[in-house]
This record gives sequence, C-alpha cells and structure tokens, in this order.
Amino acid sequence: MIEIPRQKPKFRFAPSPNGPLHLGHALSAILNHDMAAEAGGDFLLRIEDIDQTRCTPDFEAGIFSDLSWLGLRWPEPVRRQSEHFPAYQEALQALIERDLVYPAFLTRGEVKARVAAFEAEGSPWPRDPDGTPLYPPDDRERGDAERQRLLASGVKHAWRLDMEKALAAAGGEFHWQESGDGETGTILADPVAWGDVVLSRSDAPSSYHLSVVVDDAVQGITHIVRGLDLFYATSIHRLLQTLLGLPEPLYHHHRLVVGSDGKKLSKSMGDTGIAEWRRQGFSPVELRRRIGL
Ligand code: GLU
Repeated sequence: MIEIPRQKPKFRFAPSPNGPLHLGHALSAILNHDMAAEAGGDFLLRIEDIDQTRCTPDFEAGIFSDLSWLGLRWPEPVRRQSEHFPAYQEALQALIERDLVYPAFLTRGEVKARVAAFEAEGSPWPRDPDGTPLYPPDDRERGDAERQRLLASGVKHAWRLDMEKALAAAGGEFHWQESGDGETGTILADPVAWGDVVLSRSDAPSSYHLSVVVDDAVQGITHIVRGLDLFYATSIHRLLQTLLGLPEPLYHHHRLVVGSDGKKLSKSMGDTGIAEWRRQGFSPVELRRRIGL
C-alpha cells in the first residue's frame, strides 16, 4: 500500500508543464512558499505531467526558471508524476478490486454525439461544476459478461468511479476544513455533482484527481493551497482520500488573478505570462504588486 510519511507542515505548488506559467500561478506559488515559511514547514514543487501529449520539457524548464526568478527555493529532486504511474495504478487496482470503478468504453466522440442527440430533443444534458457533460450511464449499466468480453477484446478503455457505489462505500457525509478566500470553515463535500469521474484514461494511466490525492499522501502534504477554480474538485479528492484511507489535508483556495479584461487567466494569454513580464524588464517586486501581494 501507499506509504504515508510522518506529519510536518508541508505545502506544495503543483503546476502542469503544458504551457507557460501566468500571474495566477505566481500568486499560488508565492502563497504556498510564504505560508510554508510561516508555518515552519516545507515548500515542495511537484510537476503534474501525466498528460504526456501536452506536457513538454521546455515548459517544465520554464517553470523552474520562472519560480527561481521569483525568488522561490524548493528541495530537489522534485516529484514528477510521469515517473510514478505504478503508484496511481496501485490505487486504481485497489478500487477495481472493491468494484468501485468500471471500465468505460465510450469514446469522446460517442459521448459528444449522445449529448448532442439528447439536447436536440430540447432538454439540457446534466453537466459537472466545470460545465463538462456527465458521463452517460451505458458502461456503468453494462452486464458483467459483456464487460469481460470487451476487456478481453483489448478495446481501449478508461476507468471511471461508480459514484453511487463509491458514496455507499465511503459511508455517510464527509467534509474538509477550508481557510481560503471563498467559503470557509467546515465544508460538506458534494462529489455527486461530478458524476462518474474518470480515474484513468485510455491514453494516460491516471487522471488528475487520482494522482493528486496519491501524491499528496505520499509526499505528506498537510496544507493544500491552490486557486478557487479547484474548490469544487475538492469534493472528489475528499471522496478518494476516504475510499483509499489517505489522510485529510487542510485546504486554502485562494482568489484568482484576473486579466485586465476581468477574465480568468489562461496559459495562452502571453501578456500575463511570468516570462513575458521578465522579458519586459519588470522586477519580482513589481510582479508581486500586480497580483496584490
Ligand atoms: N496541476 C494543477 C494545475 O496546474 C493543480 C493541482 C492542484 O493544485 O491540486 O492546475
């Protein structure tokens, strides 16, 4: 099973090297770094590169360079998710053995067509808090013989959490402690809104949700400081932590940095990239001021 190290305040900044870091990442990294220093704890950097089709060594090098320029330091070597696929596989296997996940065979195109056909009839298909259509029930309802036949045929498949079974196995309500810039205090987790979330994909042996909870446990992360855009995803993380018997970290979801147009920053917006700020000759102090620190 997963080894859980002894407790010590531990914070992490966990970017994905699939684009240049922007000012929102700078806020997250600096907050983690400063809160760790204040707590007398450690600040770790973790590279979340499970999506090998979008993550590149160049973007990773950019992360190291931008964070160093900001004046942040972290222990080396850093944990890189692409080097730990067996750990995620082990967690998935535990859920397979408990019959809490099922193989999902529908392709993206098939899901899209299903949703479009349904919505053409006039009613909206249910969506998760990020606006993504919930996965259709076909694979969950598939009979065991058919499921085994498809698995044996070698057809590509993902693994999805059976939300109903998972909630029953988790037994009752669960919560998290929140100290961020949105709702604070004891928050009731509500993972149902996410439907049967994907835990491993046909083209990647893990998903963000699965690897993040495994890594936080393996690394002994006690405090999770990240953007408010991940507030609702915490419900899934608490469910997975409960199912896998992993410790419960404290959460702090901070405000998001918005662009001059008032909209959320994205990795494609060059003008709000940290690298672009550096190129234009701004100092780290000026960058801190821009993000309200
Ligand atoms: N890798 C995620 C991202 O870049 C952040 C994960 C987390 O902080 O839980 O958005």
